[in-house]
Amino acid sequence: MFNQKVKILNIKQETESVKTFFLQVSRQDLDFKPGQYIMLTIPSGTRSFSISSSPIVKNHIELSIKKYPDSKVAAEMHSLKINDEVLIKGPLGRFILKEQDKNSIFLAAGNGITPLRSMINYIIDKKLDINMQLLYSNKTKNEIIFYDEFLNLAEKNKNFKPYFNLTQEDWNGLKGRIDKKMIQDTLNIKDATFYISGPNEFVEATVKIIKDLNIPQEKINREVFVRPTS
Ligand SMILES: Cc1cc2nc3c(=O)[nH]c(=O)nc-3n(C[C@H](O)[C@H](O)[C@H](O)COP(=O)(O)OP(=O)(O)OC[C@H]3O[C@@H](n4cnc5c(N)ncnc54)[C@H](O)[C@@H]3O)c2cc1C
Repeated sequence: MFNQKVKILNIKQETESVKTFFLQVSRQDLDFKPGQYIMLTIPSGTRSFSISSSPIVKNHIELSIKKYPDSKVAAEMHSLKINDEVLIKGPLGRFILKEQDKNSIFLAAGNGITPLRSMINYIIDKKLDINMQLLYSNKTKNEIIFYDEFLNLAEKNKNFKPYFNLTQEDWNGLKGRIDKKMIQDTLNIKDATFYISGPNEFVEATVKIIKDLNIPQEKINREVFVRPTS
């Protein structure tokens, strides 16, 4: 298991509250699968973060971190600069892309998009024969992470269809809470494998809907961004 300090190579502001950190670590040293996470330690504490970049990227990994109003670790991360160092340990987790399944449906809310972005880019980079549908929910349009990237990927890759949903802003797209009807009307769920990622409430509610659609348990993969208790 990789467990070392690594350097921040670059920092990108994605949205008002999310920054992507490019960390210097080679694929050879940290050999992860799309969907996995690492444990990051800085003076204020240790937290889990999914790797948001594809494993095909050879010389760095990306973490996309949301800062909450009363964040501890995420707030300290957001104050760091290029060339600062952080300790990372990994890879960890069993939320992993199943390459043999040909119809993948990705459901995310907010920063839950990170492991799914890794899977989507990996499928595209490796030219895998997998049909991808993404339904990504956010409060407002400005909070959508990787919006332009997903639109660009969709333009170049016929097997990728992103759908964006907003819960707290009116727009010319999907609106309101994700429910059974929205999933049935928007997505082709035949023989689909589901990857659901985000805050606990989102994952629980979405898994319940998927089960209601008679999707077998083994086709439902989930990653919950649990909040630390201390
Ligand atoms: C497997 C896994 C992967 C993760 N991947 C990512 C990732 O890619 N990007 C990312 O940004 N985070 C991710 N997280 C969440 C991350 O580990 C931290 O929980 C999060 O950054 C909050 O830590 P903090 O120190 O900033 O806030 P804390 O100081 O721990 O909490 C401060 C306050 O922030 C608010 N808060 C914390 N977490 C949440 C939440 N999930 N939803 C709503 N409010 C919250 C609460 O009000 C809380 O009281 C992941 C978690 C897990 C378990």
